[in-house]
Amino acid sequence: MKKTISYLLPFALFASILVGCSDDDSKGDNYNANYLPSIDASNLPVGNQPMTMFEDDENSSKMYDNKDRWFRVNQPMQILQKGKDSVQISLYSPVGLTDVKVYAKLANYDKRFLVYQFSKVPAFHRSFHQLPLVEGKHDYQLENGKTVTIDKIDGFSSGAIQFSVESSDPLFAKFKKIKSARLVQFSTQYHLNNPADDPNKYLPMNPVLAKEAITMIINFSYAISHPLYYDTFMNFDRYKREQAAAAGTEVNGALNWHGNADDVDGVYDYLTKAQIEQAYNTYIDSRTLNMAMVGGGSAWGGGALASQWESGYVTGHWVGEMSVWSHEYSHHSGYSHSSNLANSGQGGGQQEMLTDFYKYLISLNDLPFIDPDILKGYTKTKYLSGAYKKPVFKINPKNPFLVKYKGEGKWN
Ligand SMILES: [Zn+2]
Repeated sequence: MKKTISYLLPFALFASILVGCSDDDSKGDNYNANYLPSIDASNLPVGNQPMTMFEDDENSSKMYDNKDRWFRVNQPMQILQKGKDSVQISLYSPVGLTDVKVYAKLANYDKRFLVYQFSKVPAFHRSFHQLPLVEGKHDYQLENGKTVTIDKIDGFSSGAIQFSVESSDPLFAKFKKIKSARLVQFSTQYHLNNPADDPNKYLPMNPVLAKEAITMIINFSYAISHPLYYDTFMNFDRYKREQAAAAGTEVNGALNWHGNADDVDGVYDYLTKAQIEQAYNTYIDSRTLNMAMVGGGSAWGGGALASQWESGYVTGHWVGEMSVWSHEYSHHSGYSHSSNLANSGQGGGQQEMLTDFYKYLISLNDLPFIDPDILKGYTKTKYLSGAYKKPVFKINPKNPFLVKYKGEGKWN
């Protein structure tokens, strides 16, 4: 006999019913499930308050609102519970997604079930959706394909539902590989506090630049999550030897990663293997990153801040010119000029290695976003202070990753 279990409040009671009766909560194979229809987020009724974030002419105060605009680089498709009965979905990506499945997990039920299915989510989309759970009794698909029927639940306290996202879209597969969990946002605190001696030290950004910054940080986060990068990072001494061999020279400067202690006559505070692993983790942990823009003589990084010039955001990253960014990102991750994790001298450290690696990934078409025309930021002269041409990527045949891997190493 088929059992039907009602999902009653309180959950404590519900949980005790389920103990010891695995899969009794899901329906048998002959059950004719009646799922909620999938949603096309590119064609929503006004009640969902659909909008495109970072429209070119959007007021910059919106992108600078850190309560409203932020995302983790490994979760560009963001699902947030709003109030006791709704969610806000936001896609921090310059390219939309298809076939997005949003799963919900309740505290006292051990299975994730499909709560929304979106046939399309456009680039930089945001909208609001009532939870079907509060609207009535519905069938939901479990991850194993079985069905569960859940009775109406009046509402949820904040954080009571854990959401997760799956998608068959190849772009989403790339997002899912990102190991970094940096929380990215923009902040007015830099340019509004400009020192009198250099009013261009930091400059205000705008949505055109923010879209480029978001695109770049997703690509960059993918790059530093890449197995080839991890392998090179963990075996930087090998990389230095190979680099020297290719150039027909001795290893220039430090033989391996070293920390922030001052170098004394070629004596470095080399990191142990465990410390190198720790250093890698500083690049991908969940700290907050404020992406800012400079206009003076220097770029800056440290604490939550990493910055670069407008050209880096508009064209540089498309051609792999990530040198300044990786340097400032290293300051933001805790490294000073006396460490080759930031420093570019003596044959190069992180700054040079990352840049060559990033260019190699572009040459392999192994980044989430490769084509500058998905944003066309370089054409939007009204929002830029410099004049730019379409970025055209070329790889140096002596790129050490190209020399070593010869087109292999793509992250499948
Ligand atoms: Zn520096």
